[in-house]
Amino acid sequence: MRKKQLPVWELSSAKPSFYFFMSRTFRRLKVKKIAVKRATYLSSFTESFPFKFNFTDDVKKAYYKRYGNLIMRILRRNRARLGSPYKYRICRKCHSYLIPSETLRVRINKGKIVYTCLKCGNIRRIGIK
Ligand SMILES: [Zn+2]
Repeated sequence: MRKKQLPVWELSSAKPSFYFFMSRTFRRLKVKKIAVKRATYLSSFTESFPFKFNFTDDVKKAYYKRYGNLIMRILRRNRARLGSPYKYRICRKCHSYLIPSETLRVRINKGKIVYTCLKCGNIRRIGIK
């Protein structure tokens, strides 16, 4: 028998309440995994969505701020972190979603990648090995 089709926002098969009877550590790990899944899905959605429409710059900026905030809230509540493609996509200071040439400037300076948020001017330096 085929599994029932789940709605988009319900990416995992079980709700967090399902893990209530398991050990604390195991439950936390499971819930964290679900949180990362949802945050990853939201990130990919945030990147793909505005290209389907002609948003004005103000609307785009508000959109990136709103979705960055949503992703940050999911991650913070579950003490989770995003994986490699979306690792540096949220500003640490204003929680805006960072997309090159839209809300993010990328430069290389003294052997380091420099990410500058165009909304609040927060700078993040990442070393290259
Ligand atoms: Zn910022």
